[in-house]
Amino acid sequence: MSWEFSLPVKIYFGTDKIQELPKIINEYGYEKGVLVCSNTLKKNGVADEIIKNCNGKIVAVFSDIRPNPTTDNVNECVNVLRENNADFAVALGGGSPMDCCKAACAIAKGNDIIESYHTGGKPIDSREVIPMIAVATTSGTGSEITNISVLTDLSKNVKSTMNDPLMYPKAAIVDPRLTLSVPPKVTASTGLDVLSHALESVWSVLHQPICESCSVHATKLVFEWLYKAYCEPDNLLAREKMAEASIVAGVAFSNPRTAGSHACSFPLTNLYGVPHGEACAMTLDFFTRYNAEAEDGRLSKFAQNCGFKDAYEMADTITELKKKMGMACTLSEIGVKTNEEIETLTKMSMTPLMERNMIPLSYDDIKNMYISIKGDFK
Ligand code: NAD
Repeated sequence: MSWEFSLPVKIYFGTDKIQELPKIINEYGYEKGVLVCSNTLKKNGVADEIIKNCNGKIVAVFSDIRPNPTTDNVNECVNVLRENNADFAVALGGGSPMDCCKAACAIAKGNDIIESYHTGGKPIDSREVIPMIAVATTSGTGSEITNISVLTDLSKNVKSTMNDPLMYPKAAIVDPRLTLSVPPKVTASTGLDVLSHALESVWSVLHQPICESCSVHATKLVFEWLYKAYCEPDNLLAREKMAEASIVAGVAFSNPRTAGSHACSFPLTNLYGVPHGEACAMTLDFFTRYNAEAEDGRLSKFAQNCGFKDAYEMADTITELKKKMGMACTLSEIGVKTNEEIETLTKMSMTPLMERNMIPLSYDDIKNMYISIKGDFK
């Protein structure tokens, strides 16, 4: 077995760690920053408090970002960074503002638009990059420690990733208190994203031992704490455990990347508006059962390390957890009505991410998988 591991992001984890943001900004010597956040964080006062604490170093705010950010969102964010001649940015929010900010920071000092890089193949140029500090407010994507940005190009109707070693945030602040206001449905969806990261990195062809150890830890935490965080939003311990699961699962998939469930999630989100984590989870139990058949027994050993009898028991527990939290389990629940739509979903799911699955999957395998979860239509 041969593998690589690299993670150049300094992580600040713990309750009230957000208070250290001004000190971190000073340590790096940054002077003029833009805060990139979701509207929710602007409206609930969290953004204002951060701006106040930063003693004039945040000179502008950009919050016009939709969930699953678009390339247009990124270009507008880039304009704000350029207009203010920013030498750093702080991303505050879930994966959507973090990914928007990350992509914008990667091209901020240049003069091009993000589409040239996202789908146009233009490489990131180190002279155009400004640093970003990521402050995660959902326990989900792990975007605060990855060099990945997931963007939707509406003109091409494509949701896809861009990544580059130059796109790592400089620092990540994970303060569980910031996640207390996350509503139960978002807690459920983002928590299942954590589980997807932990599991997909195990069955990725880029699988490796450091990341697998992180996957075991994160998976155990999710099964122990996600439902509690969902039922008791104010439970700070449950929030802390899920924040820990999220960052550790972020390390788990940072190098092996994601695979089939994320491949399927993109069209489920793009065509039917299913929130990202819920979309990943729609197929996560299928992929768990499918990969349970691997000759090396990798997934069964992994499931046993997580306290299950085998991978099938783990898959059944995922199904149960989704149902308990009201997550969509069938295509009819999200509005799929025809077999033609299943063909479209299958086609759009067959991306390079699917090729990372340790047991190869054909077009027919994925189509049959969708048929098996189609639910209530002929
Ligand atoms: P999100 O950022 O879209 O946020 C979901 C909702 O929760 C939004 O309405 C937001 O305003 C709200 N919210 C966020 N924090 C809150 C808080 N503390 N209190 C109350 N409401 C809050 O959701 P997400 O799941 O975190 O991110 C999804 C995006 O991240 C998708 O585009 C997905 O593709 C991407 N993603 C990126 C990576 C990566 O490595 N870059 C990995 C996985 C997913």
